[in-house]
Amino acid sequence: MIDASVAELRQALDARKVSATELAHLFLNRIDAHDAAIHAFITVDREGALAAAAAADERLARGERAPLLGIPFAHKDIFCTEGVRTTCGSKMLENFISPYDAHVVTLLKEAGAVSLGKLNLDEFAMGSSTETSYFGATHNPWRAGYVPGGSSGGSAAAVAARLVPLATGTDTGGSVRQPAAFCGITGIKPTYGTVSRYGMIAYASSCDQGGAFGASAQDCAALLEAMSGFDERDSTSLNRPAPQLRAALDAAPQDAARPLAGLRLGVPVEFFRDGLHPDVVRALGDARRQYEALGAQCVEISLEHAARLAIPAYYVLASAEASSNLSRYDGVRYGHRAADYDDLDSMYCNSRSEGFGAEVRRRILIGAYVLSHGYYDAYYLQAQRLRRLIAQDFRAAFERCDLIFAPVSPTPAWKIGEKADDPVAMYLADIHTLAVNLAGLPGLSHPCGFSEEGLPIGAQLIGPHFSEVRLLEVAHRFQQNTDWHCRRPVLSAA
Ligand code: GLN
Repeated sequence: MIDASVAELRQALDARKVSATELAHLFLNRIDAHDAAIHAFITVDREGALAAAAAADERLARGERAPLLGIPFAHKDIFCTEGVRTTCGSKMLENFISPYDAHVVTLLKEAGAVSLGKLNLDEFAMGSSTETSYFGATHNPWRAGYVPGGSSGGSAAAVAARLVPLATGTDTGGSVRQPAAFCGITGIKPTYGTVSRYGMIAYASSCDQGGAFGASAQDCAALLEAMSGFDERDSTSLNRPAPQLRAALDAAPQDAARPLAGLRLGVPVEFFRDGLHPDVVRALGDARRQYEALGAQCVEISLEHAARLAIPAYYVLASAEASSNLSRYDGVRYGHRAADYDDLDSMYCNSRSEGFGAEVRRRILIGAYVLSHGYYDAYYLQAQRLRRLIAQDFRAAFERCDLIFAPVSPTPAWKIGEKADDPVAMYLADIHTLAVNLAGLPGLSHPCGFSEEGLPIGAQLIGPHFSEVRLLEVAHRFQQNTDWHCRRPVLSAA
């Protein structure tokens, strides 16, 4: 059961071979046995999980059938949950209990999915390794002492270690795709505006987007479908019908031997040039040949601006938006308040200095600087222009190809601590994921091999706006013909 796909869990629940309560216990016991070593969870909500499972069992007993009814999962601790603390990985919100549920939380509750708790992340989702969490780093289940990626590292590690079959995440610059790659699972970030940001703690609002983690494209499809849909409380939510993802994947291909015949896969030359780890080059080369064997035709494309300008543009814009979004944490309305202060100014100052970690303070300082009078034109406006050039790169590329095939990260996971004192090295690791967010495009990461050290490597598929169905379908065809997504880490006994 632990290794079962969502479809298999669905069948077992519907056939009453297992109850939602039994499933919740099964995964909660696994968390008890293994999470001390992995530290994927910030909060395990045993009571809430068992209550939700009992409610799911009642619905099942009444004959109700729904895709996620009774399926265990967990939320990245950036989604507000009424009654269960929401920390965003920060001391600032260590004891914050939200008075309301995020839209995604409401949707998954209504769907009958059973939340087991809240998953670790980089503080306020700023980072690529889950090391900036106030609650301590998460370990990569494939190898203790290595990062799981970030910022949704707790989500990816939990799914890879099968502490949960599914997890939510968010992706501002790669935070779903990169940890999925580092942990050997599948992750999708949909088109900006597909998943409501209501109740999802804001980092860089013009890039933030909820996404889904699962072992396979099929599992991700089940979760993303349930998370998607218009929400009038998010002004950037798209008012279009939620995509029907599962049905598209279940359909048989017309040509079983060459299910991807006719697909043009764009290979961006700039993304395969210097700086790629040799194991990534090898794994991506194998994946490309596999795609060709399935009938896809690879065409060279150029993403010149995306490759060269995404990092500077993103880190200016994301920091600017972060400095504005995080101004709400003032120690007055909610969040950490310093014990010692003399006046209002020192209360703000002490509360924020104590409540935020070093990386968050760095982003706030950069953001305040680039938005300040005198520097706004030189940095913020300039970065907006770069953003437009990057979006144009993709528009031109999609005239020549249907989807883009690229690395997720230049390297496999690194050792905990290895880049902790070098923020620029950490930022450079995002080079292949950031541009997708700046252009608001959907992107998916799926496992495609291992490094010599035994760490997973992921391949990225990028599509035009609203191509989630196609992305998942193409990844699914790859997974029907390979078994990278079926590999599981061996966890040491508790
Ligand atoms: N690593 C990037 C950052 O630190 C992206 C993080 C994310 O997607 N939330 O901003």
